[in-house]
Amino acid sequence: YHAARRGTVVPVYILDDPAEGRPLGSASRWWLHHSLEALRNDLPGLILLKGDALSQLTGLIAKTGADALYWNRCYEPAAIERDRTIKAALAAQGLDVRSFNGALMHEPWEISTGAGGPFKVYTPFWRAALKRDVEPPLPRACIKGPSLEMLGDDLCDWNLLPRAPDWAAGWREIWQPGEAGAVARLGDFIENGLDGYASLRDRPDRNNVSRLSAHLHFGEISPRQIWSALGFQADREPRLEHDRAKFLSEIGWREFSHHLLYHFPEMPTANWRPAFDAYPWRDSAHDLAAWQRGLTGYPFVDAGMRELWHTGVMHNRVRMIAASFLVKHLRIHWRAGEAWFWDTLVDADLANNVAGWQWVAGSGADASPYFRIFNPVTQGRRFDPDGAYVRRWCPELAGLGNDVIHAPFDAPAESLRKAGVELGATYPGPLVDHASARKDALKGYESVKNAAQTA
Ligand code: FAD
Repeated sequence: YHAARRGTVVPVYILDDPAEGRPLGSASRWWLHHSLEALRNDLPGLILLKGDALSQLTGLIAKTGADALYWNRCYEPAAIERDRTIKAALAAQGLDVRSFNGALMHEPWEISTGAGGPFKVYTPFWRAALKRDVEPPLPRACIKGPSLEMLGDDLCDWNLLPRAPDWAAGWREIWQPGEAGAVARLGDFIENGLDGYASLRDRPDRNNVSRLSAHLHFGEISPRQIWSALGFQADREPRLEHDRAKFLSEIGWREFSHHLLYHFPEMPTANWRPAFDAYPWRDSAHDLAAWQRGLTGYPFVDAGMRELWHTGVMHNRVRMIAASFLVKHLRIHWRAGEAWFWDTLVDADLANNVAGWQWVAGSGADASPYFRIFNPVTQGRRFDPDGAYVRRWCPELAGLGNDVIHAPFDAPAESLRKAGVELGATYPGPLVDHASARKDALKGYESVKNAAQTA
């Protein structure tokens, strides 16, 4: 928008993921391919380049004679470093270099505590954010410029899509990456999901969440557009105010995660609470693989892990339970879970993923307390009361009654036989016993408490 107002535009996308801290995960690569395909259709002339961003830009500037460089900001610590270097180098050459906020309602540095520091707790952060105006989204720009896409790469040569095996074969039926898909999904959510969001957003068996996270991550829609669309909706249907406020507060968690990552850039690799360095994590390739494959013997966890594998997302409530199972029941480091999510989620996002994992582990800012150990059976009964979610993703359990579908290991032999379930053969027995796993996890946290007291 700003570049188009200035003059002729040469649009360029540079894939420089190692410089952003870590290579894209496999599911993100799939999304990026289709997102760029859609962007190329919307923005003819888009040049695709790959590799070190500064040298690619320097080459392109030499070929085109560009005298300005505009981009939307990224917030991953390594991307900030890279972009600072680019800004300094090209500004020194006399270019007009400017960056803009295209991804957040408010910049992470715009919201601060009374003392001027970063927030460490979500509720006061969001209260402070709500006191600020959210800038309205910009109108669609009319971009004019020469067609120079031949200066860039062919998208197919980037090999972003999986081949043999093509594990994403059915994903085009579920997802429509790109701006049009994002706008359609927001519209569908406002029409069909928003009403009841506050009370039903925790139910993975219902359709009351927006599924906008990947679109938001890839910049196909901005939180400002969402804010504005919901404001419009609130005027039309004031009775939905509670649902609207709840939904926006979830976008608020996204803002909070970015605020945290900006102010605590070591978060992706280090415990936000250093006392957690003392936690006695277990190393078990066997248990990690069982968790990844959805074979823990706890149906609510397994359904979530299989939903993730088959669709590239997992419902938020189930993410919490599945993540908690890994770090608390299996006592495997949150970083192993974070890495698996990074590779398999289409919405993998450094800020949200790391904040989510550290929240679950108890090591993060404003985290779930260490003694809160979700029971996957009672959580399943509460949030999937008819077992519909489990039946969908663990079809081998579909014949079990609602009373035992979340705990097949407690089912009478006759119920199992009638449902065609043979524990250890058609579906695994529980990897760990909940009560003793809980006790062991709490024992482990004694070391954290001791470390915190002596710090
Ligand atoms: P909705 O309920 O419709 O919420 C709307 C939007 O708000 C989401 O699209 C998302 O952008 C934001 N949002 C909602 N909840 C959260 C939250 N807890 N933290 C931050 N933002 C939130 N989200 C990601 O986008 N990428 C991740 O890599 C990611 N990893 C996670 C890992 C763990 C262990 C946990 C517990 C949560 C993680 N989340 C992550 C947050 C959350 O699970 C997803 O954003 C949400 O499930 C996406 O579904 P939705 O778009 O239907 O959400």
